Amino acid sequence: MTRSSTKKTTNIAKKNTPSKQYVYAFGKKTDGNSTMRELLGGKGANLAEMASIGLPVPPGFTVSTEVCGYYYDNERSYPSSLMRNVKSAIVDIENQLGKQFGGNSNPLLVSVRSGARDSMPGMMDTILNLGLNDKTVCGLAEVSQNPRFAWDCYRRFIQMYGDVVMGVQARNESEEDPFHEVLEKLKSSLRIELDADLSTDDLKELVKRYKALIAKRTKSAFPQDVMEQLWGAVGAVFGSWKNDRAILYRQQYGIPAEWGTAVNIQAMVFGNAGNDSATGVAFTRDPANGEKVFYGEYLINAQGEDVVAGVRTPNAIANLENEMPKSFKDLEKVRHRLEKHFKDMQDFEFTIEKGRLFILQTRNGKRTGLAAVRIAVEMQKERLMTQETALLKIPAESIDSLLVPVFDPKSLKAANKIAQGLPAGPGGATGRIAFTAATAEIETRKGNRVVLCRTETSPDDLKGMLHSQGILTSRGGVSSHAALVARQLGKVCVCGAGDIVINYEKGTLTAGKTMLKEGDYISIDGSTGIIYAGMIESTDSEVKRVLEGGMKPANSYTYELFQTVMKWSDKHRSMNIRTNADTPAMAAQAVAFGAEGVGLCRTEHMFFDGDRIDYMRQMILAVDEVQRRAALRKLLPFQKKDFVGLFKAMNGRPVTIRLLDPPLHEFLPHDDVVRRQLAEKLNVPFDFVIDRIKALHEENPMLGCRGCRLGIIYPEITEMQTRAIFEAAAQVLKGKKGIKVKPEIMIPLVGFREELADQLRIVHRVAKEVMASRKVRIKYLVGTMIEVPRAAITADEIAKEADFFSFGTNDLTQTTLGLSRDDMGSFYDEYQRKEIYNQNPFASLDQTGVGKLIDLAVDKGRSVKPDLKLGICGEHAGDPSSIDFCHRAGLNYVSCSPPRVPIARLAAAQAKLRNG
Ligand code: PEP
Ligand code: MG
Repeated sequence: MTRSSTKKTTNIAKKNTPSKQYVYAFGKKTDGNSTMRELLGGKGANLAEMASIGLPVPPGFTVSTEVCGYYYDNERSYPSSLMRNVKSAIVDIENQLGKQFGGNSNPLLVSVRSGARDSMPGMMDTILNLGLNDKTVCGLAEVSQNPRFAWDCYRRFIQMYGDVVMGVQARNESEEDPFHEVLEKLKSSLRIELDADLSTDDLKELVKRYKALIAKRTKSAFPQDVMEQLWGAVGAVFGSWKNDRAILYRQQYGIPAEWGTAVNIQAMVFGNAGNDSATGVAFTRDPANGEKVFYGEYLINAQGEDVVAGVRTPNAIANLENEMPKSFKDLEKVRHRLEKHFKDMQDFEFTIEKGRLFILQTRNGKRTGLAAVRIAVEMQKERLMTQETALLKIPAESIDSLLVPVFDPKSLKAANKIAQGLPAGPGGATGRIAFTAATAEIETRKGNRVVLCRTETSPDDLKGMLHSQGILTSRGGVSSHAALVARQLGKVCVCGAGDIVINYEKGTLTAGKTMLKEGDYISIDGSTGIIYAGMIESTDSEVKRVLEGGMKPANSYTYELFQTVMKWSDKHRSMNIRTNADTPAMAAQAVAFGAEGVGLCRTEHMFFDGDRIDYMRQMILAVDEVQRRAALRKLLPFQKKDFVGLFKAMNGRPVTIRLLDPPLHEFLPHDDVVRRQLAEKLNVPFDFVIDRIKALHEENPMLGCRGCRLGIIYPEITEMQTRAIFEAAAQVLKGKKGIKVKPEIMIPLVGFREELADQLRIVHRVAKEVMASRKVRIKYLVGTMIEVPRAAITADEIAKEADFFSFGTNDLTQTTLGLSRDDMGSFYDEYQRKEIYNQNPFASLDQTGVGKLIDLAVDKGRSVKPDLKLGICGEHAGDPSSIDFCHRAGLNYVSCSPPRVPIARLAAAQAKLRNG
């Protein structure tokens, strides 16, 4: 091909490739809709949807999440066409409103806001009133005929821009926000208390001082060019995708870093244009308890940030009916329209500018677990959603909040009430007062429970909030940051407790005559808003009380909600739910929560109690088989009794019993006093005990003589355990009640087929002996755990011996990642910060790594035995996203700890509904 012909083809190709769309308008012309969350983010997609169904949305446009990806992939630069597209989108807004961006007579101002696919409230940056400078502020003053308003907007803008884009912020936790400091200084010199009392001239002075502050701190001037302002803001919003709190939030909610945020640029409307203007946040239902009431708050003559930042405590939405009856009516209409259209509880922001209502944002409202359940159940009853949708709408973890303890009514009566705030996150929390997020974290790491007490919280407090039992703020309403985040985290929260004074410098919290110090105990009731000095005992939730027979089902609406969701879940799920239980009490609790079997009984846990530990130690210290058998004979009756209890509690349901697994020295005492006592008890010399302990020492016990290796080296242990299982089974089966038993014996840590075969020979022999001597037939299974990579890789071999596999994902994670589950503390935080781990691999299954081994083992296992029973019993079995994986992998059951059984029931149903 000649040179010229190559050139020609390239030109043609260029002409035929339309440049990629990065900018999507909403307003008179709307490019997007609510299904385009991936590209437009939640906020952008819903703005587009609202605009297209005719709701009053100020015009604007969304810069897509793809630009965020481009920005980070290309050293924080933008695609070449973006500048042109943004300019033309601005011109579109100008034309719709008859205003001009940077114009001196009727200036267009815009807001610049983030918007990720899943909302991340308060975690990223926002800039309002952009487009103001020394000239346009005069134009705004003239056109609005309200100079005070114009200068109020200008000072707000400089403050926000200075903070978010130019980085003028408090330098540590105890330092005040520098803009706030300047404002307070001016107010106090003028002897003014409220911002609203600042005159136009005062605001002009404030603008001057803010600019001076910026110049001093950044060595550059506040920008006057509106396009420069715009790009500065866009860059700050994209940049905020990688700020610490956004990263932490993503970790918490498993949001991938690749998603990125969109940027929404929208014409400003003004809630601070006078007393006929207002701004607020509303929820179509109560996000704290789910009740179907109009819920929210507003401030007259204010901008949106004033409400969410919690700086002023706003009025309850019901008051708006008296203050602005027409707007309230309009708002009620919007409330119903939004719910009907989006078919979920909505959290929306509105502004009333001179009596005219605008909607600035809507999203599915964050809610407490209780509210999530109630809203889903009631919306299904109202036919706003199907049963399937209702189930998918409830985050599976939410079920937990129906089960968590509440304050004990008796202790509550005697408690010392010191103040009351707004109930913003239900439940009862008791802990030591922590005034900073850092203290909360430090104290929790020491093992103390804390309540984070702040005048207001900012997104930077997220980490401290995560560590706290509850959150208390003295300012801010039910939609303040504290309340929003607390609800989402399922934390107890009381906010806007105006009677409380928190003095960070003195380290005191005062309510009337009571003064508490950091470290003192405080208790908060997030269902009533009441605050108490001191500790208060907790008691079981209503659901638990009903399940345990202490309360009548008819007396608890919470129980009714719980039962409804569980019934629906059971109808829709295909996986069974078992539990990890070692005692009859645990098993009984799990059955009450809906467990359909025991998936893991860790027999070693049965050896810690009372005298058993001594016999166990005697067995471990034994020097030969004779001594070992003697000790095992003493342990046998204990094991048998435990199994009888377990079989009875499970009442005919299958019970998987794992043979001894941990390294033996875990049972031996660490300190010399107890070692000496042991020597005396066993009537052996102290030195003998010390020598045996030394002999048993292992450098890497997790990879040492444990699991099936124990039973292979000491077959008499496997014999004793098998005998105990079958004697117990025979006893229960032949007992008066004739309870059925289904033992499933599980061999741990198998990596070679021959290991399993070795243990199987013992199990079958002993089972046969016991059945013959007791004259019963007991149906049983023998299987193995898959918890080392070799077992997964050779699963077809191992399956030839096994009746079932149970994935022990704690060990499988440990062995696949080459990472000890007990030793990741020293680097885990850094790994999280760098987003190397999206989530803790021991809490949520590493689906791309460990998951592959599971898939492989499933395929190989079933290639030999198509009906091979498969389950999981690692900690991941209680984690909803891991449960989703297990469903996709084709497992028959998950086995989790008793309290997580209800969550697993719902998560399994959701997995089936999502994946079929
Ligand atoms: C596992 O490894 O996942 C498991 C359940 O066993 P353990 O935690 O007792 O090692
Ligand atoms: Mg294990």
